Amino acid sequence: MKKHNFSAGPAVLPASVLKEAGKAAVNYQGMGLSLLELSHRGPEFTAIIEEANALMREIIGLPDNYHVLWLTGGASSQFFMAPMNLLNEDETALFVNTGVWADKAIIEAKAFGNVQVIASSKEQNYTFIPKDYKISKSAKYLHLTSNNTIYGTQMRKFPKSSVPIVCDMSSDFLSRPFKPEQFGLIYAGAQKNLGPAGTTVVIVRDDMLGTVLRHLPAMLDYRTFVKENSLYNTPPVFPIYVSMLTLRWIKKSGGLKTLQRRNKAKALLLYDEIDRNPLFRGTVAEEDRSYMNICFVMNEKYAALEAEFGKLCEANGMIGLKGHRSVGGFRASTYNALPQKSVQALVQLMRDFAERKG
Ligand SMILES: *Cc1c(COP(=O)(O)O)cnc(C)c1O
Repeated sequence: MKKHNFSAGPAVLPASVLKEAGKAAVNYQGMGLSLLELSHRGPEFTAIIEEANALMREIIGLPDNYHVLWLTGGASSQFFMAPMNLLNEDETALFVNTGVWADKAIIEAKAFGNVQVIASSKEQNYTFIPKDYKISKSAKYLHLTSNNTIYGTQMRKFPKSSVPIVCDMSSDFLSRPFKPEQFGLIYAGAQKNLGPAGTTVVIVRDDMLGTVLRHLPAMLDYRTFVKENSLYNTPPVFPIYVSMLTLRWIKKSGGLKTLQRRNKAKALLLYDEIDRNPLFRGTVAEEDRSYMNICFVMNEKYAALEAEFGKLCEANGMIGLKGHRSVGGFRASTYNALPQKSVQALVQLMRDFAERKG
C-alpha cells in the first residue's frame, strides 16, 4: 500500500505522474529506448521542454515579456545567482527575513552588493511574517520568501512594491494563483511541488537582465538560458520531463484555483484538529499559517508523548512527519499531490490518540 507521504521535499508526486515516469524510464513511447538514454537535442526532448514551457505559461498566465528557465543547482544556487545577475556592487537589495532560507539568501547576496534587511522575525524564531516595512524606491529589488518550509508560515499576500520583487517560491510554487506581473524574478526548486529534485525553475522578466557590470560565467548568466531556451548545456532531462507531467496533471486537475481550494481545505482540516485537540498546538501566528507546511508540537503537559505519537504515525504508514530540528514536534507537508485522505488519516490518528491519552 502507498504510504501517506508528508515529507517536506523531495515530496509526494501524483500517482499518475509516477506511473507515466516509470514507463518512460524503461521504454519511452514504445521506442525501445529509455528517456534517460535519449539526446537532449532530439525531437522527443524538444517536444517535452516545449510542452513544459507552454503549460507553465498557460497555468500561471505568464505575460510574453517573461522567460521560463530550467536550471540546476537547486534553489540554493539562486541565493547567489540572483544577486550576481541583478545587483551591482554599489546597489542595494532589500530583504524580508522570514526563515532560514531567506537568511541564507541574505548571506550570499552580501558578496555582490549592499544588503538591507528591512524586516525580520528571526528573533522570534520566525513564528510570524512581518508586515510593516518601508520599501525604499532607490533599491534595486526586494527579496521575499513566499512560504517558509521549515517554520510553516506563508505570505497570504505580497506587498505593493515600487521596486521589482524577487521571490523564492520553492515550497508553494503552483499551489495557488498569483499575479506574475507582481514579480521581477521567481525561483523554485522543483522537488517541493513540481517534480523530482534536480531542476530549479526560474521565471524572469526580460528587463531585469543585462543591468550588471560584472563578468558572468556562461552557466551562471540567466541570459545564456534565455538565449538557448535552457539548452545551452545538457539540462536535467528527466526532472524536466517529470515536471512537465506534473504540469499536465495540474491543468487536468483544473489549474491553480482548484489546487488552492483543495490545499486550503486540507490545511484547515489539520489546523482545526490541532486547535481542537488538547494534546497539540500550532507553532506560528494564526494569520500567517502555511497551507503547505503545517507545524505543530505537543502541549507541554503531554510533551513526553511525542515519541509515542511519532511511532504511531509510522506504524500507520505515515512518513516525513518529524518536525525540523529548529522547531521540533511535527511538520505535515501538504503539497498539491498529497491526497485529502492522507490528511484525514492523520487527523483521525490525532483524535484517537487524544481519546486514549487525554
Ligand atoms: C527547499 C527550499 C530551498 C532549498 O532548495 P534546494 O533545491 O535544496 O537548494 C530554498 N528555499 C525554500 C523556500 C525551500 O523550501
